[in-house]
Amino acid sequence: MHAPSVLVVGAGFGGIAAAIELRAHGIRDVTILDAAPGLGGTWLHNTYPGAACDVPSHLYSFSFAQRTDWSRLCSPQPEILAYLQDVAREFGVDELVETGVRIVAADRPHTGAPWTLTAQDGRTWSADVLIVATGQLNRPVVPDIPGVESFAGHAFHSARWDHGHDLRGRRVAVIGTGASAVQFVPAIAPQVGHLSVFQRSGNWFLPRRNRAFPRWWRAAIEHVPGLARWRRRFITEYCESITLMIRHPATWGRLGKLYSTLFMRSQLRDPQLRRAVWPDYTFGCKRVLFSSHWLPALQRDNVSLETEKITEIVPEGVRTADGRTHEVDTIIWGTGFAATDFMFPMEITGPGGRSLTDEWAGGAHAYLGMTVPGFPSMFVLYGPNTNTSGGSIIRYLEHQVRYVRETLQEAQRRGVRAVEVRGDVERAYDAEIQARFTGTAWTRCDSWYRDEHGRIVTNWPGYMREYDERTRRVDPADYVFH
Ligand code: NAP
Repeated sequence: MHAPSVLVVGAGFGGIAAAIELRAHGIRDVTILDAAPGLGGTWLHNTYPGAACDVPSHLYSFSFAQRTDWSRLCSPQPEILAYLQDVAREFGVDELVETGVRIVAADRPHTGAPWTLTAQDGRTWSADVLIVATGQLNRPVVPDIPGVESFAGHAFHSARWDHGHDLRGRRVAVIGTGASAVQFVPAIAPQVGHLSVFQRSGNWFLPRRNRAFPRWWRAAIEHVPGLARWRRRFITEYCESITLMIRHPATWGRLGKLYSTLFMRSQLRDPQLRRAVWPDYTFGCKRVLFSSHWLPALQRDNVSLETEKITEIVPEGVRTADGRTHEVDTIIWGTGFAATDFMFPMEITGPGGRSLTDEWAGGAHAYLGMTVPGFPSMFVLYGPNTNTSGGSIIRYLEHQVRYVRETLQEAQRRGVRAVEVRGDVERAYDAEIQARFTGTAWTRCDSWYRDEHGRIVTNWPGYMREYDERTRRVDPADYVFH
């Protein structure tokens, strides 16, 4: 049986990792399609001031393409994008990317047929295998606040930053105080005239200065044998300790909370502001944010923190429940992404007209986050329940693409056209994963990890090493080979 042909949707870390893995193992017919004008995924789109990863780069990078020249602990967006582009070039997969292709539908009318992908402009592609690598955080959300269209000033989302819009001297509203806002607010605060930050919930913070690495450190990482490897391992264990705190809120979680409390108190001298920013939920329930710059930024003379509920957007600005109108020239939405919708608006239809939208109506689910019964030879990367609150998604992706490749090789060995996860295996797995959330901090508040039914559909409930272990080997008994 010949090697399968593969279509990958998404040219971010996942899509690039998949192409590298497949091509390295003889699966040569790989095409990557992406709506954007270039490869890079989230790191192409998120160019807001201060954009950087919040996982240290020695871990937030491919194990097979380690660098010793990272400029700082958590690299800024341009450095990460350049890294991904370099890796793609090094491994010869940059040429597999077709950009400007917005896939709107994927169909496999019956198991023996290939997948056919249709782009918005009507073009089609067909292949034996579909890999969906669109990630969880690719659809920016502007909340449906009354009057949102009526605003007379300029508005944009943090993930589509308008670099042509000069913020200097302007009155700016930032809505949302998640991981993105926490990075761009300190970066823009010194430029703007006045900044009103609208916070719906406070966050737990841990320190992160992210200064440029001193020259001696970069030299040491480059020249001391084993130091870079040791560093990666140390960061891994640090990240796993965050998961430990989230998994055990009544014990280890208290330590995390104490650390965060001491840090936040040291930065917050004003008791009124302290009360206003203080989170009212369990440490670790939402993403713990790493920033030593956010709380000081809130204390600038030209920054005000608004905690009243937003009731309306009006032409002049933002109206809050206390009846005040906050007049602004610019609104920046730091309101995150439609994470629980997964690959929408792409419509995926399997044999017999089975729609993935319907299949996931009660919440997305997939075996190991990758395979769905009824959708033969379709694999999802960074799919349901594979997000991490403490760790590097790149590590998960590496395990996923190896698992996908081994599954495809097993199908090839058996001379079959398609491979599909067994329904009973997927259901048992899903029940196990959901049960593992019981008692953890993730269940103790509302967050973007949960869908409208309250089910946690984005996050992996355990440690990185557990996911590594679960995906280390493909068990052919889990699959039907057609
Ligand atoms: P987010 O964490 O989902 O934050 C959205 C913010 O908007 C929250 O503060 C939310 O408040 C607020 N919000 C949403 N709807 C609102 C409404 N109707 N009215 C008022 N406020 C509203 O989004 P994000 O900051 O873009 O981050 C998303 C994820 O991207 C992160 O968790 C992280 O995984 C990833 N990220 C990573 C990095 C990195 O460094 N690697 C950087 C940025 C983002 P509530 O908290 O009350 O819901």
